Amino acid sequence: MTKQTKRANQLLALARNSFDVIIIGGGVTGAGIALDAAARGLQVALIEKADFASGTSSKSTKLIHGGLRYLKQMDFALVRETGTERAVVHRLAPHLVIPEKMLLPLIEGGSYGRFLTSLGLKLYDILANVEGEDKRQMLDREETLIKEPLLKADNLKGGGYYAEYRTDDARLTIELIKKAESLGALCLNYMSFQSFIKEGEDVKGLVCLDTLTGDSLSCYGTKIVSAAGPWVDKIRTSDGSKTGKSLHLTKGIHIVVPHHKLPVRQTVYFDVPDGRMIFAIPRQDITYIGTTDTNYGESLDHIPVNAEDVRYLLSAVNATFAIEKLNVDDIVSSWAGLRPLIHEDGKSPSELSRKDEIFESPSGLISIAGGKLTGYRKMAKRVVDLLFDRLDMEDPGCTTDQVKLTVMPYSDHKAVMADIALLTKLLAEKGVDESANIARYLIRQYGKKGIEIASNLTVDTDDQEEVLLLAELTHGLTSESVHKVADFLVRRTGYLYFNLAKARKYTPTVAGYMKQYYGWDESRYQTELQEMHNLISEAVTFA
Ligand code: FAD
Repeated sequence: MTKQTKRANQLLALARNSFDVIIIGGGVTGAGIALDAAARGLQVALIEKADFASGTSSKSTKLIHGGLRYLKQMDFALVRETGTERAVVHRLAPHLVIPEKMLLPLIEGGSYGRFLTSLGLKLYDILANVEGEDKRQMLDREETLIKEPLLKADNLKGGGYYAEYRTDDARLTIELIKKAESLGALCLNYMSFQSFIKEGEDVKGLVCLDTLTGDSLSCYGTKIVSAAGPWVDKIRTSDGSKTGKSLHLTKGIHIVVPHHKLPVRQTVYFDVPDGRMIFAIPRQDITYIGTTDTNYGESLDHIPVNAEDVRYLLSAVNATFAIEKLNVDDIVSSWAGLRPLIHEDGKSPSELSRKDEIFESPSGLISIAGGKLTGYRKMAKRVVDLLFDRLDMEDPGCTTDQVKLTVMPYSDHKAVMADIALLTKLLAEKGVDESANIARYLIRQYGKKGIEIASNLTVDTDDQEEVLLLAELTHGLTSESVHKVADFLVRRTGYLYFNLAKARKYTPTVAGYMKQYYGWDESRYQTELQEMHNLISEAVTFA
């Protein structure tokens, strides 16, 4: 199908069909609900006002984790759920949810003493059914320094060494969207909810705005679900149902430095003097550091990384690691996101529960907020269970623990590693530079599709980097709903965060290619360039 007809057909289908459920919001929560509902046979539509994962679901710490810190809050149910879910999500997408060892250094006067850490991690193993090599190990001071020689030794007492998973939140979301689509869901980005269509008191449809064209469109569904993350209260307000509990938004930022500036060997989860803990996570050629947790009441669409946020993270790193002092000039990228938490009187941002909550309004609107990336599947299950109840339809039951997340899924981590080795060999035989790095990147990003994307690369190619990038872009345009330059350079590839120099270098190439592909006029092309330049500049400017 050509580029024009695919979206045109989607728009027609959205306007003409009546759905069992329409979901507002294409972050991980909405995408998870769309997949679960489609897998149970419902007619599903999902609308996202900007790009899929452009809200919080591309701004997290990118860990699929059990939430060790919730043990401190005695929230055993949450630890058990997220702890068990880690293994499930890893099994569903082993190329994208990757085992990662974590080191928790124990320091004089730190959050966790040796006894508590040992007990906490043990409990964590039990609650989350952790087995074999992944079980926690308690290290003495010397063993800790062997694992991570960069740690300052003076107040170090030992460490806890345990297993979690890392991911790419935006790619996890797009894989959920694609899988939902393959099961019949209609998922549209750049389609914004504007107002409700009601029959009597009940919501039965939505007036939407196609933000790519400015056209309005109405669509109809027996049930409407709002999975709009930080925007949930705005949507409850337009329904007139924002009573009782409300959201409490807290901001979290991450900064990115070249790996050689903070060359940690594995993820380190370390203390900050104010009693919080933050991560330093190595990834490709960079290390990213985060996060903060501060109250937020400004624009939901433009979340700044402030100089104060940056100072907080830099001083925590400089106090923990024996490295040449990091300063603002070392930062090569950053991002900021909002946690859509549920307000609890008298609690500080870090004390607020990360539990999700469902609100049902008198109009029948179902809203879900709170929660974690890690728990997206269970959140979706709760919403879809409720949908079947309200639709009064026979529920075939949730099957998403068996629905693998790509069209050609991997059986397990070993199969992923085998394909990385195979692709490395193929690329090396063709004489492609940095074959191992390229193979690892492509398989982690795209699964088995990565092999197809690499197929045009040869030693004869003048600019291998550009050929590869355009192969990725073609895949994004044809299979991953890329409509704007930033969709590709920020969320499908993560280049803005993890390789900003590459995002900057190829912005004109990507915009030029998309201009031809979509037949953009000069004004749209210039707007795209400007938007991308603004994002690049904001990622390294801190007011
Ligand atoms: P969002 O991703 O914000 O999605 C909501 C979507 O609704 C948006 O894309 C928005 O554009 C859309 N929308 C809003 N209004 C409209 C409208 N009118 N019409 C159509 N669409 C609309 N969790 C973990 O498990 N692991 C972590 O490591 C982790 N780290 C985190 C670090 C930080 C700093 C933050 C802020 C959160 C972190 N989380 C983590 C939590 C996790 O990221 C969030 O719980 C999750 O991404 C929320 O997803 P969501 O889909 O509910 O919201």
